[in-house]
Amino acid sequence: MTTTPARLTVLAGPTAVGKGTVSADVRSRYPELWLSVSVTTRSPRPGEVEGVHYHFVSGEEFDAMVERGEMLEWAVVHGRNRYGTPRKPVEEHLAAGEPVLLELDLQGARQVRASMPDAQFIFLAPPSWDELVRRLVGRGTEDAEERERRLETARVELAAEPEFDHTIVNDDVRRATDELVHLMGLPTG
Ligand code: 5GP
Repeated sequence: MTTTPARLTVLAGPTAVGKGTVSADVRSRYPELWLSVSVTTRSPRPGEVEGVHYHFVSGEEFDAMVERGEMLEWAVVHGRNRYGTPRKPVEEHLAAGEPVLLELDLQGARQVRASMPDAQFIFLAPPSWDELVRRLVGRGTEDAEERERRLETARVELAAEPEFDHTIVNDDVRRATDELVHLMGLPTG
């Protein structure tokens, strides 16, 4: 008898669309749900904690992990910093029968699609372009040059929406989370 393997869900979408907020909302409803912690060469923002928001590493440490085959996927995001998903914990949690949620950029989502085609791919979309710009400016974590860079990437990412299995419009965090929870098949009520 074969058992259905646990499902890997990849959530992607442009900068500032609210991927982090929606993932945090899922996490607050399901504290037992494991969330992958990505590795990045970017510096921590104020309030970000090593091992919680990211593993912050040097370029050399990142290269060494890639060379050892330890990344499930990795990408240079917004033409600057590298981000990657450590492979082992993802495989271990799936093997233990637990659902896994990965929050990735478009390049990472495409790499996972190539290596794990049975995963489900969900695109988190903004209600409109103007709203996306408003959210990016509003969070105030990037300077004007970095914002422009991120918006350029966002135009490319928005055009990739048809590649995904499902689209969730993040017009309201609770509603978007409800949809994600439903698609992940997490128990409700
Ligand atoms: P931020 O610098 O704002 O935390 O993240 C920038 C972008 O990197 C976001 O679009 C986020 O989804 C993406 N990202 C975060 N972790 C990973 C990862 O492990 N792999 C890939 N490919 N992208 C990631």
